Amino acid sequence: MNLTKKIIIALILGIVVGIGFSFTSTSLFSSIDYWVLHPVGQIFLNLIMMIVVPIVFISIVLGTAGLGDPAKLGKIGLKTISFYLVTTAIAIMIGLGVAYLLNPGKAGIFDVSTVDYEAKEAPPIMETLVNIIPSNPIEALSSGNMLQIIAFAIFIGIALAVLREKTKGILQLFEQANELFMWLVNTIMKFAPYGAFALIASAIGNAGLDAVGSMAMYMIAVIVGLVIHGGIIYSLAIWWLGKANPIHFYKEFFPAMSVGFSTSSSSATLPVAMQIAQEKLGVKKSISSFVQPLGATINMDGTAIMQAVATVFIAQVYAESLGFNDIIIIILTATLASIGTAGVPGVGLVMLAMVLSQLNLPVEGISLIIGVDRILDMLRTSLNLTGDAACAYIISESEKRQEHKMT
Ligand code: ASP
Repeated sequence: MNLTKKIIIALILGIVVGIGFSFTSTSLFSSIDYWVLHPVGQIFLNLIMMIVVPIVFISIVLGTAGLGDPAKLGKIGLKTISFYLVTTAIAIMIGLGVAYLLNPGKAGIFDVSTVDYEAKEAPPIMETLVNIIPSNPIEALSSGNMLQIIAFAIFIGIALAVLREKTKGILQLFEQANELFMWLVNTIMKFAPYGAFALIASAIGNAGLDAVGSMAMYMIAVIVGLVIHGGIIYSLAIWWLGKANPIHFYKEFFPAMSVGFSTSSSSATLPVAMQIAQEKLGVKKSISSFVQPLGATINMDGTAIMQAVATVFIAQVYAESLGFNDIIIIILTATLASIGTAGVPGVGLVMLAMVLSQLNLPVEGISLIIGVDRILDMLRTSLNLTGDAACAYIISESEKRQEHKMT
């Protein structure tokens, strides 16, 4: 049986067992979770996290060096960032549209008298921008600061491209290290069905179904938004901009989406997503290794959809109406908030505070959605990393066509 089939079975089993646990005694679930599900899931998570930083660093160095001249890097960078910003803005509009159609905040009685939520301070945007250049690259690597790692790797890649012969040995070393890590991804992925099963069953079992209740319409709104964005917007973009077949894309990319679903982390899924893009979808290495890590850090369309729906939901619960100006503020701040969201579980919800406070909506409204956020996080993470891969695929296909025309 091939890996995709095994992963599909693991997904279904994980969901069924997780839901089954919601009906059994808490103590039975707690012991099975403690002794089996949690350790198996965590071992899988650690295995893939173990290779994230080296893979991102090595592949961006190679990708930049492979592009040769910095102007080309600039061109691809511009295309990538434009794609990310435009699709995120579209995602937010879809989220808003669906939320206004389904009115999740009017679909039940919500008690706001007891809600409480301590919003974390969002990092000032200017500081984040300046700090993209790391003053201490070793610290950036050890703490896994993705944007800093990307910047450092780009500098090294450019230097290797300029120095060529003089640094041939180092380049070769990076190439061999890349082979080594790709082999590790392949090997670790053999464990993916078991890891994914354990992570999903544990997450769903822990989240339980009690929290759903009156939040069902909110969940449906987010899910419909995710499906429209993934099913229609990305498919159209792949077909129209990339002149490629979206069904082929989704079929091949599915294992990465399911790892994203089970881990709820775009960063952790990066090695798998890059490997599939390069080896199964034929995305050029120099493009995949630059576009996907950047996307895993700044491009979160699924998160943006959740933030848009959640904002409308909270406004409705508190009976606040949103005008045209507010909608523009939501599009701008939710884009920034999703850029600022780190690719790890749950951060999208933390960043939602930024959107709410810009609109003077009560931040403590977030506590209403915390209960169901774990499950939605799984789904939106899948979409987040699909957007990054779609962008890499589209840019790579159009570069290939241009090269073909020139020869
Ligand atoms: N878990 C998401 C991701 O890693 C981020 C979020 O929305 O919380 O892409």
